[in-house]
Amino acid sequence: MASTIDLPEASGETTFSLELTQDQKDVRDWVHGFARDVVRPAASEWDEREETPWPIIQEAAKIGLYGFEGLAQFFADPTGLGLPIVNEELFWGDAGIGMAIMGSGLAAAGIFANGTGEQIGEWIPQCFGTADDPKIAAFCVSEPNAGSDVSALRTRAKYDEATDTWVLNGQKAWATNGGIANVHVIVASVDPELGSRGQASFVIPPNTPGLEMGTKLRKHGLRASHTADVFLDDCRIPGSCLLGGREKLDERLARAREGRKSRGQAAMATFEASRPTVGAQALGIARAAYEYALDYARERVQFGKPIIENQAIAFALADMKMEIDAARLLVWRASWMGRNQKPFRNAEGSMSKLKAGEVAVWVTERAIQILGGNGYTREFPVERMHRDAKIYTIFEGTSEIQRLVIARAISGMQIR
Ligand SMILES: Cc1cc2nc3c(=O)[nH]c(=O)nc-3n(C[C@H](O)[C@H](O)[C@H](O)COP(=O)(O)OP(=O)(O)OC[C@H]3O[C@@H](n4cnc5c(N)ncnc54)[C@H](O)[C@@H]3O)c2cc1C
Repeated sequence: MASTIDLPEASGETTFSLELTQDQKDVRDWVHGFARDVVRPAASEWDEREETPWPIIQEAAKIGLYGFEGLAQFFADPTGLGLPIVNEELFWGDAGIGMAIMGSGLAAAGIFANGTGEQIGEWIPQCFGTADDPKIAAFCVSEPNAGSDVSALRTRAKYDEATDTWVLNGQKAWATNGGIANVHVIVASVDPELGSRGQASFVIPPNTPGLEMGTKLRKHGLRASHTADVFLDDCRIPGSCLLGGREKLDERLARAREGRKSRGQAAMATFEASRPTVGAQALGIARAAYEYALDYARERVQFGKPIIENQAIAFALADMKMEIDAARLLVWRASWMGRNQKPFRNAEGSMSKLKAGEVAVWVTERAIQILGGNGYTREFPVERMHRDAKIYTIFEGTSEIQRLVIARAISGMQIR
């Protein structure tokens, strides 16, 4: 027999709301306008050119969408929804151009997560340059033999006491903006025996000798975003470029050597903070493909009626919409938790990125199916959206690694 629950009278006032504030709606509409009028019309061209879309970055910088101040303002939203809203709208326009605009944010997040107040003030603005002269930044963790397994990094940073400099040697792989960035943030090992606990993040100032771009990669999707290997060959940087400073590093290494717990690893601190935002990017792609497929299904006539009048198509669209909305709730929850320093006890950041990434791949594939032959051609954007979506199950932690993180968090066990 069903039991009854005594509910308190609704007071008409509540602290919980999923309704966006007027400011959030204004930001959303402003970014949407830029995505619709500037980004989307240029998407196909830059996808074909496979080049960084500098004119669009410059336009974004002029209106304050690209730059340190803009980022700080989006981040400042106390609900945590500023960044996901902006990212979803921009990536709705196009993911390749979106990543060219937002890719620098990962380096900024790396500095923010690991740097001192002084370092944050010095280096984050240099990641973006100015409205008249925008620059870009790169965050380089992955290496040819260390992707998911960050503890296997071989790039080495050695301290030279005599000159108070660090010397970096190694190879970074798949770096967004790698080699063409003004500022590179490099995660390197200072004590290889300690694995990921012996790593630290370093800023490589602009034009530092010893940092060279390797192969620029030709990709399946996200082609307007530059991806390349980066070589560090006796790359010497001032001691002050160690993020967080020497004292904090020595303390952390000492704890690790004694087998005591430490607060976190250099790369992981960045990824924890950025996962919901990355999930929001995937959501933008998914929503764009869903909307395109919905319009198409209303217009396309077969057997004398619009194809949406077939349940098979209408139900697919219903599921697409539901999955996108479900993913957004996970993204918003994790963003709110991150901004309000709520611990991710059940790996809520990973959940949001995993769900949004897989939804984006699934929805864009469904969109191609709904467009039929047209969907498979480059004359229609869902083909590009599908190629772009795929990266969201790979970078910033593959789907398998996200599941590992969630499984460990919920079980407290060393799942392998
Ligand atoms: C377009 C693009 C942009 C990128 N940008 C950056 C960037 O800016 N900075 C940066 O540092 N990196 C960047 N990367 C690198 C990206 O983060 C890595 O490719 C990703 O972490 C996966 O590593 P990997 O490619 O070495 O795959 P691998 O680690 O070799 O994994 C291969 C497969 O094995 C699976 N696997 C591995 N280990 C396990 C396990 N324990 N359990 C179950 N399955 C497992 C993986 O899930 C995957 O399916 C980028 C990559 C791309 C393609």
